[in-house]
Amino acid sequence: AAKGAGRGGVQVFDEAASRRALDRLELRSDLAHAVARDELVVHYQPLVDLLDGAVLGFEALVRWLHPVRGLVPPDQFIPVAEETGLIADIGTWVLDEACRQLAEWQAEHPGRALRMSVNVSAAQLHDPTAAARYLQGITAAGVQPRDVWLEVTEHSSVRSEVSVFAHEMHRSGVRFALDDFGTAYSNLGDLTRLPVEALKIDRLFVSRLTADRAERGLVQAVLAVARSLDLQVVAEGVETQEQREELLALGCRQAQGYLFSRPVPAEAAAELLRTGTGMDLVTGR
Ligand code: C2E
Ligand code: MG
Ligand code: MG
Ligand code: MG
Repeated sequence: AAKGAGRGGVQVFDEAASRRALDRLELRSDLAHAVARDELVVHYQPLVDLLDGAVLGFEALVRWLHPVRGLVPPDQFIPVAEETGLIADIGTWVLDEACRQLAEWQAEHPGRALRMSVNVSAAQLHDPTAAARYLQGITAAGVQPRDVWLEVTEHSSVRSEVSVFAHEMHRSGVRFALDDFGTAYSNLGDLTRLPVEALKIDRLFVSRLTADRAERGLVQAVLAVARSLDLQVVAEGVETQEQREELLALGCRQAQGYLFSRPVPAEAAAELLRTGTGMDLVTGR
């Protein structure tokens, strides 16, 4: 595009641009083999009770252990996977893996209510075969559909074809959470038409919670809406004790965030389940 705009700097720009394009191409072709080569890994971030830090379940977050690039975060390859259609295979793999892991942890901790959340992107939800594949994975793992939560974003969930998928899954008992709540355009009316049972308050609001009164009001409003619609609320990205106390004061009990734990490999997550997060507000500080 910058062609003919002059020499010097343009060449540098072109080089950088073509390197990026090449990079992306390479990423694409590598990603095509990632599932088959067993390069994807799931890390788990605990969902906790804000009051005592008790682990209520986990969110499965995929990473790509690239042979040369190292651990690639999802934001860098999920968009590529969506563009290329590879998201179908990756999504199925993540769900199967997460359900298998949930079954293992439930067996190790009988009688303890544990749930697993898995992110699904709009591209996955537009796939008419997705519901059957997902339900098969859940059945194969031997977990209860009601212990499996699918996290969708407002943007993807308001689309009508998504809600067909959502209703089919919901009929089978799988639950839905609206992820990153508050970041995109949202019509509160859609909430009542979707089988959503939880709202995840975006990290952005949580991060401003203790500094900004307007932000506090927003979180308060979300909690009020959630209460009146009988929805659960999960605060994302809780990093400080102040945020934790503020959320508790506002009546929010469930959260995730670095204050409790970063997403960690399965073995470390299993350890958290055995020992707890060590974040009891009453005794542990
Ligand atoms: P998300 O579902 O909103 O996940 C929360 C993100 O916030 C995660 O980033 C998590 O590591 C990060 N996070 C959690 N607590 C904190 C905190 O206290 N502070 C900060 N600064 N960050 C925190 P991650 O793992 O890089 O994932 C990014 C996004 O990639 C996810 O956002 C989700 O939209 C997507 N993603 C991850 N795994 C999958 C997957 O298997 N399938 C699909 N379709 N998307 C996925
Ligand atoms: Mg999520
Ligand atoms: Mg989120
Ligand atoms: Mg997100």
